[in-house]
Amino acid sequence: MKIGSTYIRRYVPILLLLILSFSAQAQYFGQNKVRYKKLDFKVLQTPHFEIYYYLKNENMLKRFSQDAETWYKMHQEVFRDTFLKKNPIILYNNHPDFQQTTALQGEIGIGTGGVTEALKNRVIMPVMELNSQTRHVLGHELVHAFQYHTLLEKDSISLENVGQTPLWMVEGMAEYLSIGKKDAFTSMWMRDAMLNRDIPSLKDLTNSNKYFPYRYGQAFWTYIGSQYGDTTIVPLFKNTAKYGYENAIRYTFGYDDKTLSGLWKNSIDAHYKPMLKADSSQIKITGTKIIDNKNAGNMNVAPALSPDGKYLAFMSEKDLFGIDLFLADAKTGRIIRKLTSQISNGHIDDFNFIESAGAWSPDSKQFAFSIFSHGKNQMMIINVANGTTVSQTAMEQVQQFGNLTWSPNGKDIAFSGMVEGQSDIFSYNLDTKVITQITNDVFSDYAPSYSPDGKKIVFSSDRAA
Ligand SMILES: [Zn+2]
Repeated sequence: MKIGSTYIRRYVPILLLLILSFSAQAQYFGQNKVRYKKLDFKVLQTPHFEIYYYLKNENMLKRFSQDAETWYKMHQEVFRDTFLKKNPIILYNNHPDFQQTTALQGEIGIGTGGVTEALKNRVIMPVMELNSQTRHVLGHELVHAFQYHTLLEKDSISLENVGQTPLWMVEGMAEYLSIGKKDAFTSMWMRDAMLNRDIPSLKDLTNSNKYFPYRYGQAFWTYIGSQYGDTTIVPLFKNTAKYGYENAIRYTFGYDDKTLSGLWKNSIDAHYKPMLKADSSQIKITGTKIIDNKNAGNMNVAPALSPDGKYLAFMSEKDLFGIDLFLADAKTGRIIRKLTSQISNGHIDDFNFIESAGAWSPDSKQFAFSIFSHGKNQMMIINVANGTTVSQTAMEQVQQFGNLTWSPNGKDIAFSGMVEGQSDIFSYNLDTKVITQITNDVFSDYAPSYSPDGKKIVFSSDRAA
């Protein structure tokens, strides 16, 4: 079961995959992937892991290995399972490097956060832009490592059976056990489902790709964990792998999946009803919806308004061939033209759209954004009037960057970037082509923005104030 449906590829911010590599796919080195550099991996041994790394950042590596051991202890309590062999983790310094991994065949897109392989139980992941994201992806992938180990090695369940376990159960559990019960993001999805009277049954979740398995799955396990205790999780999961989820629910709870779906729905209703006094038909949306699936694509993200207020640049999957950059009238939403695309511009392998919108020049004539090209992020600046490329620049040692912001005098572009797994703020001078590192610390520094006089930069950070 390689999870590759277009639904998931297209609509998911951070995808944390698990891959059942059957023998045909289980080659160590994919042959058809372009590699731009040779990485010199070393091995760090911890009590339960073998971490392959080339990161030259001892602090971060230490924290990563401690996090791995902490997750191990937490997951071990739920799974009641112990690894007899050390579990391999391959750690990349950044997402562009991870996308070139030869440990897996097939393309890894911008939206894939990490991967866990069956049988080898190997976790492959990059250091993420935020320390909290790295910790989450690691915890999530290690749930998959335990899932595989428990089913395949301890209970001798076949790989085919494991592959038939519904995605909402597998991914939802990985989210539940790495995030917990309280999650603003999942709550948002559930409130929306309730407002629109579209809370799915377990059968709907299994049969329709309309319901994003990560969020609904996390909500399902939150309900199970709260109502029946976390000790129910693994038996239900094992029985599902053996007998299918309908039978597993009957064995575990004594009633059928329809009844459990009803109970789950009631609990969502009971939880959110006091907060939501109306249904969607009664809610007035303030503001005007200018871009939606009628004039653009199903997924429209990363909007950036031009300083003169006339234009809106945004990413959309309007043309079905992937993500493109579009220009629209900011008042009406009328699409003026496609600014650039992966297909027509051979230099762009992918847009760095997940966490990052582009930036307008102060005179509203140029637009700068981060792309993935030739194995790293590069800054592309285009002329908005005719769509021509003004420049395309790699940022030396800053191989992953995003969240661009243009200085008010038009001479500098600041961004958040990663060097050796550390997120800091940098700026690039368009005249001198010099890159300046503005922050340099272990905290995740992120999303910079200039003050109107250009003298200060405000940014997000996980440091204590
Ligand atoms: Zn996953």
